[in-house]
Amino acid sequence: MKEKLATRVKQLKPSATLAVNAKAKALKAKGIDIINLSAGEPDFDTPEHIKAAAIKAIEEGFTRYTPVAGIPELREAVVARLEKDYGLKYEPEQVVVSCGAKQALFNLAQALFEEGDEVLILAPYWVSYPPIVELSGAKPVIVPSTKEKNFEPDISDIAAACTPKTKGIIVNSPSNPTGQIYSTGFLKDLAGLCKEKGLIVISDDIYDKLRFDGKAPENILTVAPDLKDQVIMVNGVSKTYAMTGWRIGWAIGPEEIIAAVSRIQGQSTSNATSVAQKAALEALLGPQDCVAEMCKAFKRRANLLYEEVKKIPGLELPKPMGTFYAFIDFSAYYGRKTPDGTEIKDSLSICEYLLEEAKVATVPGVAFGDDRCLRISFASADEEILKGVARISEALTKLSY
Ligand SMILES: *Cc1c(COP(=O)(O)O)cnc(C)c1O
Repeated sequence: MKEKLATRVKQLKPSATLAVNAKAKALKAKGIDIINLSAGEPDFDTPEHIKAAAIKAIEEGFTRYTPVAGIPELREAVVARLEKDYGLKYEPEQVVVSCGAKQALFNLAQALFEEGDEVLILAPYWVSYPPIVELSGAKPVIVPSTKEKNFEPDISDIAAACTPKTKGIIVNSPSNPTGQIYSTGFLKDLAGLCKEKGLIVISDDIYDKLRFDGKAPENILTVAPDLKDQVIMVNGVSKTYAMTGWRIGWAIGPEEIIAAVSRIQGQSTSNATSVAQKAALEALLGPQDCVAEMCKAFKRRANLLYEEVKKIPGLELPKPMGTFYAFIDFSAYYGRKTPDGTEIKDSLSICEYLLEEAKVATVPGVAFGDDRCLRISFASADEEILKGVARISEALTKLSY
């Protein structure tokens, strides 16, 4: 059967996280007490007033197709939110609502990139960027960074990665997996480079409300509004409102690009789920204290995790500035052996060891383009975080040369 598959899917690499995930599930099914610090979503439930809006929509029979690009009220609410949070003015025609930010990103890549194009991706990056670019036919070009510089790449490295084929760049800050936020200076320099080279910028702002400094969101357009013609912003309700399962996200940008995304969406999924759009509308227009509360909890857990991890010899990380992830360098333990003689040689082997020995699930950094690190999520209760880190610490002491 395999030879019948299309080349594009044959070339699609299997997710490096799948092996660990499958193992964690198998251990859990056996009744083993696994602490899961690998989650890519908030542990909170969707706020009640948002659920109520969806229930009302169902009861009122709001169950038919909507316009492909989303219900007008939601596109207007997205525009209003953007002006309030970013001080940027847009028209509802410049917004397309999709089945999650992920579909907005996928459709954007389909609308903008093709064979022969190169797209810059800043490492460590969200796992789905390279495959999304590859599925468009374009080639992802990875620009690395280091923990010493809080995972902010050097502008000179980004400039050096540009070729005549470079069509665009994907930027994500606050970042999954690093939990870091690019500095204003970096964003300004990046904007200068993108302007000079005429690059299209996809700004993935999905964690914009989960920053721990209490400041307003900042992205490439807030520091360089003159770049408006070449920037598309992507956002959604998944992370901000604990609504991952509802599948509502959007893209905002130049009208011709947004119209192209709508054309693609119109021939694939059509509109995002009608009742989920009503829920997202309530999320944007309703009370916002739920966001502040969740952000406060993530900040407390970030500090808790950071302080505990700092006590473990050899582990290094910049303090998380937002999101619900810490990206921790475990490479000081590479080259050591487990009690049964297996060598720890990369992020996958340390991840597997921690799962087997400490019964803690994490995500190997190789999935995000940095093999020295593990991503540890703090979208878990305080006690789970404390217990998980204590178990990791204990397991690391059992490694030897
Ligand atoms: C979770 C996530 C997304 C996708 O969010 P959905 O709206 O649920 O599709 C996009 N980008 C990053 C960086 C994410 O972490």
